[in-house]
Amino acid sequence: MQRAVFLGEGRITVEQALEPQPGPGEVLVRVHTCTLCGSDRGMWERGSSVTPGHEVAGTVVEVGPGASLPAGSRGAVFLVAYCGECGMCGAGSRGACLRKEGMIGFDRDGGYAEYVAVPERCFLPVDDRLDLDDAAMLLDATGTAMHALRRAGALHSRPSSALVMGAGPVGLGVVLALRAVGVGSVLAVDIASYRLEFARRLGATPIPGGEGAFDAVRAVLPGGPPLVIEASGNPAAQRQALDLLAPGGRLVIVGHSRKPLELWTSRDLIQQEKTLLGSEYFDPAEFEPNEQLVLQGKLAPRELITHRMDLGEIEEAYRLFWAGETGKVLLYPGGTPNA
Ligand SMILES: [Zn+2]
Ligand SMILES: [Zn+2]
Repeated sequence: MQRAVFLGEGRITVEQALEPQPGPGEVLVRVHTCTLCGSDRGMWERGSSVTPGHEVAGTVVEVGPGASLPAGSRGAVFLVAYCGECGMCGAGSRGACLRKEGMIGFDRDGGYAEYVAVPERCFLPVDDRLDLDDAAMLLDATGTAMHALRRAGALHSRPSSALVMGAGPVGLGVVLALRAVGVGSVLAVDIASYRLEFARRLGATPIPGGEGAFDAVRAVLPGGPPLVIEASGNPAAQRQALDLLAPGGRLVIVGHSRKPLELWTSRDLIQQEKTLLGSEYFDPAEFEPNEQLVLQGKLAPRELITHRMDLGEIEEAYRLFWAGETGKVLLYPGGTPNA
């Protein structure tokens, strides 16, 4: 089979390799779609001994000893090989498992290959009616977004408005998710005009980022938004998000950052009873309800897709992706459909 090899410094080759064999409790998946993601950056820069790619959808073609999914099952791959027994797994946050055995596409082989072997519990079967591109888009792109909204209780409270800080792939996924759950007014802040225009097309009010963003948001929502989702990972934007949040509001942080955020608990949280939440990936139990939103036509993850390319074009795909002028970029290790 063909697989991508990340050599470092942005160089990626495609080489022939042996098809993996499914081990005990594993299934072998023929990869239909694998989606580019910002969290591949480290492997893109430094190279990787495993095959990256963690937003995978495909079809089970073979099962290992003890696995029972029927061959032919279509679905998506949950990237965390979770334990199923720790406190976080028990609390419905298997994406943040405390004793995970590995992360598919990070410390074990992932989906930039024609075939990938994954633990059976990580394979999330989908309805026959769901397109496999949509299945892949239900992972990081909109799965992470829907989990953040569930963390904030937004599916029940359905706030009148919400602010999204950072309109990269995750932030744009949040815009779609907010629309899907019926939040009326969505504002999106970013510094890149391409992303602001993308957010506008998805139905959000675009707000150019930077110091002026505070006044621009207040001009639309004088009392501040009751819900803010921080997807930029930039401490300055996190700071602004806290300042903009309405008293009693909830801030959910999904953007990982490399620098700390200074917090003055009295002013920032206690006096205005603001809630600060972290949200990591999602739980497999959320996958089916999210899939239903797609089948009902409420959630349209494919609106985030801008490019579809062959595995052989992966180096070029990442160049485009890092330039910041794409939405989600899909690769097809088995060849681009209809090409
Ligand atoms: Zn990802
Ligand atoms: Zn666990």
